[in-house]
Amino acid sequence: MTRRAIELLLLVALGAVWGWAQESPAITFAGALVGALAWTFLDGVRARRVLRWLNKGEATRAPNLGGVWGELVERCRKVIKKLEKKAQSSDARLEDFLAAIQASPNGVVLLDSSGRIEWSNLTAANQLGFDPQRDLGQYVRNLVRNPAFTAYLAGGDFGHEIQIDGPGPRPSQPTKISMQVHPYGKKRKLMITRDVTAVLLAEAMRRDFVANVSHEIRTPLTVLSGFVETMQSIPLEEADRTRYLDLMSQQAHRMQTLVSDLLTLSRLEGSPAPGPGEWIDAEELLSHVVQEAKGLTHAISPTPHEIERMTGPDLWVSGARTELLSAMSNLMSNAVRYTPGGGRIRSGWRLRADGWVEFFVSDTGPGIAAEHIPRLTERFYRVDRSRSRETGGTGLGLAIVKHVAQRHGGHIEVQSVLGEGSTFAIALPPARVRERVNG
Ligand code: ADP
Repeated sequence: MTRRAIELLLLVALGAVWGWAQESPAITFAGALVGALAWTFLDGVRARRVLRWLNKGEATRAPNLGGVWGELVERCRKVIKKLEKKAQSSDARLEDFLAAIQASPNGVVLLDSSGRIEWSNLTAANQLGFDPQRDLGQYVRNLVRNPAFTAYLAGGDFGHEIQIDGPGPRPSQPTKISMQVHPYGKKRKLMITRDVTAVLLAEAMRRDFVANVSHEIRTPLTVLSGFVETMQSIPLEEADRTRYLDLMSQQAHRMQTLVSDLLTLSRLEGSPAPGPGEWIDAEELLSHVVQEAKGLTHAISPTPHEIERMTGPDLWVSGARTELLSAMSNLMSNAVRYTPGGGRIRSGWRLRADGWVEFFVSDTGPGIAAEHIPRLTERFYRVDRSRSRETGGTGLGLAIVKHVAQRHGGHIEVQSVLGEGSTFAIALPPARVRERVNG
C-alpha cells in the first residue's frame, strides 16, 4: 500500500514541481492533477493486466508486477495452481474410472435427460451397433432401432430387463443382447447391456438335451410297461412268455446302456483332464478292442465281418486307460454295427509325419454324406436312426469319443465316402506318444 501511495505522491509532486517551475499557482495545481491522473492511468493498466491474466486463468503466465498488485497476483497464482492440481487429479481419476468401465465385460451407456448418448463404452457400442465417438450426442432411440427397445424407453418402467437382437457376425445370425435402464441424477439414465447369446444357446441346448433324454428313455419304458400290462392281464403260453421276457430284457438293456453312456459323458465333463502320468501299451489297447469287435460281430451278424488288426509302430500312449478304451471301442462297435455283415473292418495305430499318432478304424459300410459329418459328435445326432436303434445305439457314442480325444489334447477325424465306407480316427498329440525302443 505504501508503495502505491509513494508512487501517487511522487507523480503529484512531479506535476506540481513542473507547474511551480512555470511560476503559476494554477499550473502548479494542474500539474499536480495531471500527476494524479497519470498515476490512475498507470494503476489502471496494471489492473487490466491482472484482470486479463485472471480471465485466462493460467498459473504459469502471471504478470510480473510489484507492490500490492504483485502480491495480489502471487496470491491468485497460488490459488489457481491449487485448483489446476485438483482439476488434474480429478481428470486422472475420471480417466481411470472410464478406463475401468471400458474394461467391463458389460456395456455401459450414459444418457442425458432427453435420451442422448453422453458417454458409452466400446462394449455397449459393439453390442448395439453404434460408434462410441461419432454418435455421441445422438438420441439412442435413433441408433437402436428396435420396437421393443423404443417401447421400453418410452414406457419408463425400468424395473425389468429386456432382450433385443444385436448386430451379429451375419444378419441371419444376430446376437441376443439383454439390457436394463437405471435412472439416476436429474432424469439421467444408466443403460447396462449384456451379450446373452451364449447363455441362451446353453439354455436351449440344455432343454434339447433333457427333451432328448426323456424321449430316449420313454420309448423303451413304454414298450416295457406295455409288456408288463399284457403279462398281468392275459395268461400266456410259455413260448410267448419267453419271447415277451426277451423283448423286455432288450428294452431294459437299452435303458441301461443309455444311462451308462450318460454317466460316462457327465463324468468326462465334470472331471479334470487326465495328466500325462500313465503310459499304456498301444498294442494292448488295440487287441482288446479288436477282440471285443470280433465278439460283437458274431453276436449280431449272421455273416460275421472280416476284422483285421493292422500292424503299426510300437507305441506307448499316455492318458486314462478306461477313457481311451471306451473311445476306441465306440469306434469299433460303430464300424461293426453300421457295416453290413461280411464287410471288412480294419483297425490299427499309425504315426503321422508331424509326430501325432492316430488310432483308426475303417470300414466298408454305407458311408456318411458330407453334410452329416460336422454334426456326428452332437449328442443324439444320428444319420441312420433306425439302424442305430436296431443295433442298440444311444446316439452318444461319438460325443464320448470327441470328449475323450479332447481331454487328451487330441481330436476326432472322420473321412467317409457315401456307398464306400468310412474311416474314423482319434488323433493324439506328440506329447501323448512315446515310441518303444528295444522292446
Ligand atoms: P449311435 O449310438 O447311434 O451309433 P454315435 O454317436 O456312435 O451314435 O454315432 C452317431 C451316428 O453316426 C450314428 O447314428 C450313425 O448314423 C453314424 N455313424 C457312426 N459310425 C458310423 C459308421 N462307421 N458308418 C456309418 N455311419 C456311422
